[in-house]
Amino acid sequence: MAKMKALTCRECGKEYPTTAIHVCELCFGPLEVKYNYDEIKKTISRKTIEAGPHSMWRYHDLLPVEGTVDHAVIGPHAGFTPMVRAKNLGAYLGIDELYIKNDTVNHPTLSFKDRVVSVALTRARELGFNTVACASTGNLANSVAAHAAAAGMQCYVFIPGDLEAAKVLGNLIYKPNVVEVEGNYDDVNRLCSEIAGEHHWAFVNINIRPYYAEGSKTLAFETVEQLGWRAPDQAVIPMASGSLLTKIKKGLQEMQALGLVDKVRTKINGAQAEGCSPIATAYKEGRDFFRPVKPKTIAKSLAIGNPADGYYALKATAETGGAMDMVSDEEIVESIKLLAQTEGIFAETAGGVTIGVLQKLVKQGVIKKTDVTVAYITGNGLKTQEAVVDAVGRPVRIQPSLVNFQKTFKMGKHGQGDA
Ligand SMILES: *Cc1c(COP(=O)(O)O)cnc(C)c1O
Ligand SMILES: [Zn+2]
Repeated sequence: MAKMKALTCRECGKEYPTTAIHVCELCFGPLEVKYNYDEIKKTISRKTIEAGPHSMWRYHDLLPVEGTVDHAVIGPHAGFTPMVRAKNLGAYLGIDELYIKNDTVNHPTLSFKDRVVSVALTRARELGFNTVACASTGNLANSVAAHAAAAGMQCYVFIPGDLEAAKVLGNLIYKPNVVEVEGNYDDVNRLCSEIAGEHHWAFVNINIRPYYAEGSKTLAFETVEQLGWRAPDQAVIPMASGSLLTKIKKGLQEMQALGLVDKVRTKINGAQAEGCSPIATAYKEGRDFFRPVKPKTIAKSLAIGNPADGYYALKATAETGGAMDMVSDEEIVESIKLLAQTEGIFAETAGGVTIGVLQKLVKQGVIKKTDVTVAYITGNGLKTQEAVVDAVGRPVRIQPSLVNFQKTFKMGKHGQGDA
């Protein structure tokens, strides 16, 4: 029996075949992959996972693709990124056991999007597509473009008109069709929904979305395995559409249901930027629905004003007793610097959002000193240099002479005066 059972509607439960569809024809609810857990349970174990490839594909049994572990996937090196024990930042914040899940070094495009794209393109090819496309806030386009190039697929990426230079270049280098839309992400997404209705392409975050979203679960799987088959007490997760947050919760639940980890009590916390915080604002105001906003923030990768999974993110956080909060652009920059200067990890603006909100939740007493805490750092700072270029100072410039160097640093000869 296949491990994928069906696509099911998250609202009314109607089942559909596992094809390229994403909304329920009865109630317009979003579709989600349903698995045969009884079947999966027969073969999966900590041992089989540990014997798997050194990538997120070690959790192949819980990903929505056909074929066996060693069948050809697109993006075989994505995931299994470092889980960094952040002793310095933990000490600074007053948390005993803090970890940074470091997707700044994900393969091949340095963000967590390599996980979702690897699954989406593998599934798209299985479903017979030759052309892939996406609407993106930046990182998704980079990853789709790179994976499509490697897989020899036709590619269209649609991006908003105000992206960071490195994220624009990070598309062009792979030579997909890069379409810069005059508008924000929500405009781009609306246009793409229309295009998807006309052209038989695999839009990774539209008609392939049920499969794409499942790739985010691997962050939860890796968290559990890398903590020594434990689930953390607290998870702090950045939110754009809110999909990543909901799937980390789903991944933790699957680990528990399959007996791979004991009782999961993880509190799922969501982080947004003040300039685009429809989900976190709804949480703070005690609403279970969000009001769309017009984004204005340096955290462009999270700038979705009308988040597709916002409602489900609110639900996931509430169900686990977690919290949400938001930070200003200044706090984002300070938090990027804090992470870099304590742990040697250069995160993009989304990482600044996560660390800024982590700091707030500790201050508020929501995250306690003894809570095992994981902060998800989802993208690389080299792609958003504009955000910090004015906040890091300049190098010390000197003439190429020893005397000049020592004078500049007020050192005596032979190292006298060294600390
Ligand atoms: C896309 C993205 C996210 C979160 O995306 P969701 O739409 O909430 O799943 C987080 N961080 C970075 C860097 C991203 O590019
Ligand atoms: Zn339905």
